[in-house]
Amino acid sequence: MVNPTPNLEPVVSRYFNLPDAWKIETVLKLGAYETARKALAGKPEDVAKMVSDAGLRGCGGAGFPTAKKWSFLPKDTKKPIYLVINADEGEPGTCKDRYILERDPHSLIEGIIMSCYAIKSNKCYVYIRGEYVIPTQRFQAAVDEAYAKGFLGNNVFGTSNYRVDITVHRGAGAYICGEETALLNSLEGKRGLPRLKPPFPAIVGLFGCPTIINNVETIASVMHIGRMGAENFSKWGGGTLGPHLYSVSGHVAKPGVYELPMGITLREIIYTYGGGVRGGKKIKAVIPGGMSAKILRADEIDVKMDFDSLKAAGTMLGSSGVMVMDEDTCMVKALLYGCRFFAHESCGQCSPCREGTGWALKIIERIYRGEGKIEDLDTLLDVAGRMEGRTICVFAEAAAWPIQSYIAKFRAEFEDYIKSGKSAGKETAVHAAH
Ligand code: SF4
Repeated sequence: MVNPTPNLEPVVSRYFNLPDAWKIETVLKLGAYETARKALAGKPEDVAKMVSDAGLRGCGGAGFPTAKKWSFLPKDTKKPIYLVINADEGEPGTCKDRYILERDPHSLIEGIIMSCYAIKSNKCYVYIRGEYVIPTQRFQAAVDEAYAKGFLGNNVFGTSNYRVDITVHRGAGAYICGEETALLNSLEGKRGLPRLKPPFPAIVGLFGCPTIINNVETIASVMHIGRMGAENFSKWGGGTLGPHLYSVSGHVAKPGVYELPMGITLREIIYTYGGGVRGGKKIKAVIPGGMSAKILRADEIDVKMDFDSLKAAGTMLGSSGVMVMDEDTCMVKALLYGCRFFAHESCGQCSPCREGTGWALKIIERIYRGEGKIEDLDTLLDVAGRMEGRTICVFAEAAAWPIQSYIAKFRAEFEDYIKSGKSAGKETAVHAAH
């Protein structure tokens, strides 16, 4: 479900509700590919500067400045440079990129052409999660249309003397393949296991070559920055970091994907756009950035939704997947769901992650069955603490943060549950957007 943002001219989501916007003939009438055509008439450095001036930061989770990431590529390499689009979007509570792939795929292709030009790459791989059947079909059809028009392949637009090819690759449903180096292994036909870093992909990436991995929304935004200008993009909606797609799910009256300025408060997202809590109930807790982000209590929702404000609040913007839990939510059950997910998705390479997620699940299951002890809470925290900073990738931290934050913020409820052997609420828990 998509809700157009009231009172603001949408940017990235502008064609989400336009019929047939995934077809090239529809969007060509509206000026599609003109921005990329102009960009290719200029210098690659101009595209990178524009992205830098707009302050664009990665929209997949880490929030790293996009132009800075591009600058890490070696300057005079003889190897091919690859652009890889991470369309794995496996973070529970997050479903924004699928709308770009499904409803406005040509904006992404146009962004790819411009980004490849900026980083001097002739080849882009788009890695789409296996569950996204329709988004993959739509995106592949759009790529085929772009080739047929001469917008991809040799001599892009017929005048550029520049080649860009796109290959669409479907994942097979592993959450860890959203981690950039696991994604590269998967693309190479290997098991999707994260790699040790360094070397970082910008130096040794896909097939051993310099590689930039960017998120779908990030690269679609490159086109919109070119179309609107860096300043208009960054100041959109009165903000300072441009428009951003928020996936809003859980116990809200109007779940959906909302395009809003970076820096809007969590309260505004939930009450002004999400219609407030379903059934007029009160909020108990909110996860602001996908399952891995530390949870916030109801009294913390005046926080601004931007990288620095959420970091200062002890959590993160992550994938901008806002998951709302009402007053009847059982936090033991909510944590059980989280632990089950992470135990299932750990790739198993690192003992602290493989064993830690497994033991955390066993303990929370015991508590949920009414067989827990008060000291189980400290054991859970001990297990979570030992998972942090000792593994190949950040998955282990992502699995530890919900455990730590749920217990820190709702310890009394966990203790009451353990003492009485049952939930004080109605035992509901949030099912994420997937
Ligand atoms: Fe795999 Fe977990 Fe280690 Fe990441 S931290 S490499 S998911 S075992």
